[in-house]
Amino acid sequence: MQPASPTAEPPVRHIAVVGGGTAGWMTALLLTTSRFGERLKVTVLESPTVGVIGVGEGSTPWLRGFFDSLGIAESQWMPACHATYKAGITFDGWSTRPGFERYFHPFASTLDNLTMPQFLHNVHARLAFADVHAHPDRFFLSKRLAVEGKAPKPPHHFPFDVGYGYHFDSALLGSFLHEQAVQRGVMHVARHMNAATLDERGDIRALQLEGGDTLAADFFIDCTGFASLLIGKALKTPYVSFADNLFNDAAIALPSPPGDAPVMAQTVSTALRHGWAWKIPLTSRHGNGYVYSSAHVSADQAETELRAHLGLLDADVPARHLRMRVGRHAKHWNRNCVAVGLSQGFIEPLEATALLFVQRTAASFVDALDKGDLGESAQAAFNAGLNARLDGVRDYIVTHYKTSTRTDTDYWRANAANTALSEPLQRLLHTWIASRPIAPGIAGGDIGTGYAVLSWYCLLAGVGLFPAAAQLRPPTAAEARFSLPDIDRLIERSALNFPDHRDFLRSIPPDVARLDLWSRPEHGGRRETLGAL
Ligand SMILES: Cc1cc2nc3c(=O)[nH]c(=O)nc-3n(C[C@H](O)[C@H](O)[C@H](O)COP(=O)(O)OP(=O)(O)OC[C@H]3O[C@@H](n4cnc5c(N)ncnc54)[C@H](O)[C@@H]3O)c2cc1C
Repeated sequence: MQPASPTAEPPVRHIAVVGGGTAGWMTALLLTTSRFGERLKVTVLESPTVGVIGVGEGSTPWLRGFFDSLGIAESQWMPACHATYKAGITFDGWSTRPGFERYFHPFASTLDNLTMPQFLHNVHARLAFADVHAHPDRFFLSKRLAVEGKAPKPPHHFPFDVGYGYHFDSALLGSFLHEQAVQRGVMHVARHMNAATLDERGDIRALQLEGGDTLAADFFIDCTGFASLLIGKALKTPYVSFADNLFNDAAIALPSPPGDAPVMAQTVSTALRHGWAWKIPLTSRHGNGYVYSSAHVSADQAETELRAHLGLLDADVPARHLRMRVGRHAKHWNRNCVAVGLSQGFIEPLEATALLFVQRTAASFVDALDKGDLGESAQAAFNAGLNARLDGVRDYIVTHYKTSTRTDTDYWRANAANTALSEPLQRLLHTWIASRPIAPGIAGGDIGTGYAVLSWYCLLAGVGLFPAAAQLRPPTAAEARFSLPDIDRLIERSALNFPDHRDFLRSIPPDVARLDLWSRPEHGGRRETLGAL
């Protein structure tokens, strides 16, 4: 962020954000951080009759940076949103390969630098038919923290940072962000938009509101959810569907009581017959849901399957049914409009990446504003960057389905038979199967652009994409050179430093959330960084 300037004039004076869901309020808040301060007027227009989507309760580690950039401490927002920590995601039942039925996708920790080389070494030895242990769960601290019910919050003396995201109640988060934005000078208008009018060049001129009024602005942010009222309906920006390789287009959400068991700092994603179910721990309840393909199962059958999975067949808890539009607009920034959130596009929620894109899109736009450059080349770079990132994340999600070995339903057989893979994903999978390292291609941006090396190795090794057990041979001394008990001891000793998750949430220390904690002189001014990961 550039420093606030007392005199510089913003390239646009008034921005109207249409939509008051999580995307609308996050964007409005990020706009308040622009260097133009109060000289940039921001209005959020929200329909009193169209509700928010009301799901989306898990994040990636990026959300930490969002709150930090606004100076909002965890002790302030987490209790208000019934939030918990998330050290990663357990994928259960995606593979039927013996020993690989479940695995954990960790959010990286700097301690992983000490165990990642051993993991990669063993993976490549196993790909070369050596019988060595190559399941990711033994190698990473975050997995241990999650299953032991610990918070991924190291004490001051612990020299390694741990990546983590959050779980939260989406409605409470929306209210919290709304309140914060209004306190920071954002105007809120609770009116329904009937249409957008365009000027002679085709830019949006103003919004026609229910009751006859008009809201004019210089620039418009489309946060109207799947309706895409500005970027889609008004500006007719082409849409690129992902339906040919991501089959899920519907979801059911169903809460359940929190119970007395330890609060696990993880989302659990369990493969079901026609999709997958999420389980998200909050301090007040569990959020559960089923993401499925409506071409393969009816809504009623899917609800019965989810209730049976949760042990809630006879429970009197109402379920919410939702439809999803999976794909993206060809441009996120078109003319004088940027789309943020479900309006710009949506990859299904398997890795909980939607708010990451909200944050990235809004922050990139604030960056363009601060540079004072809203011209065509800035737009082109903005769109190309977001599209590459979105398509890369899509490829990572597609890989979960493509590498699954389930064949028990038409749904899973259709996923296995899917050949609509992007060219970079095909190259990545071929490289892996040929036992060549995928890390250089990922680092060079040729393959696997959406995710880090650690994530790709955890996914492909976690589902057991290795030669069959019967084909393995005893390892050579060089292949078997790493001691798993040593790794176990390192991770076990490290985990002892971390607090109980539930206890920590009861009273989050006011300053512990601040990243700048680690710039203190007693920590040498910085924490260990992620290095080669
Ligand atoms: C099943 C499912 C699970 C998900 N899980 C995750 C997850 O774990 N993690 C994650 O990051 N994301 C997740 N998401 C995505 C997440 O829910 C959304 O990205 C997030 O809630 C932001 O939504 P939004 O603000 O774009 O849209 P919405 O919440 O739909 O808000 C749209 C807004 O537009 C307004 N509006 C609409 N029409 C008009 C009009 N005519 N005039 C004025 N205002 C109007 C509405 O009033 C509303 O305020 C999930 C999504 C689904 C479907």
